[in-house]
Amino acid sequence: MFKLALNAGHGKNTAGKRCLKKLDKKETREWVLNSRICEKIEEKLKAYTGYDVLRLDDPTGIKDIALKKRTDAANKYGADFYLSIHHNAGIKGGIGGGIETYVYTKAGAESKEWQEALYEALINHAGLKGNRSDGTRTKNLHECRESNMPCVLIECGFMDSKTDVPIILTSKFADEVAEACVEVIVKKAKLKKKSTKSEEPKKENKVLAWQKAAIKDGFKFPKYGADGDWGDECVAVAKKAICKKRLTYKYKNLTKLVQKAVGVAEDGKFGASTKKAVEKYQKLLGLTADGAVGLDTWKKILGVK
Ligand SMILES: [Zn+2]
Repeated sequence: MFKLALNAGHGKNTAGKRCLKKLDKKETREWVLNSRICEKIEEKLKAYTGYDVLRLDDPTGIKDIALKKRTDAANKYGADFYLSIHHNAGIKGGIGGGIETYVYTKAGAESKEWQEALYEALINHAGLKGNRSDGTRTKNLHECRESNMPCVLIECGFMDSKTDVPIILTSKFADEVAEACVEVIVKKAKLKKKSTKSEEPKKENKVLAWQKAAIKDGFKFPKYGADGDWGDECVAVAKKAICKKRLTYKYKNLTKLVQKAVGVAEDGKFGASTKKAVEKYQKLLGLTADGAVGLDTWKKILGVK
């Protein structure tokens, strides 16, 4: 089981962590952007098995959980990878920026591998390659330093960049970032796609259809009702509804089932053409070709023994 610690940075009301007002009238909060990406990651991961996710932030965004609490939770959880989603600032209304990824200054090889794979996937999917740096950077960040497992912090574009803001506000961008993250997680954690073959088309339960037709024709299955299983009660009914004559006069619905099985028009009347078709059917299956639907013929029609 691969354990993912997933973090949306900050909280909704964390001071300063928002888009620059002159670029985004709503001053969209950083946590809102971070959380949207985390939700999309979780949603996309649902197509796979073999993992578990722990969200480290307050999923309502109300509380800005202390960084120590977040890394403690990830360590206690025993995460295999810590992914922290953030958005950047520092362009002050200028242009440029782009996506950056961070690992701890003394990060091990594993963190660096994750970082490189993530940055490449992020640029491939989201295309927000900035002028700010090479995108794979190191920094003495609490989350990356205090987590016991490989950790990458992603800064998904600048909230105060004229060029980045219109992009990072879109759901499409969040989707592309999430797609990139999931692609890397799936590959590195070797997650398996959930089997997509939806339930095999249900076989028609012929016994059930027969029981229902028999009930319509006035038969009763007092013990088990129409349960779809062939048993003594069914045998008794089949014996009663046995001969050509009875089917002709009384049992329209059962006659239709016979007609369906032998391939003639389902008019519910056991006439000469139906009798002929039953004879042919019986002959084909090695039964006595008398044209009367007896117990053995019923069994063949219903595919029971
Ligand atoms: Zn942040």
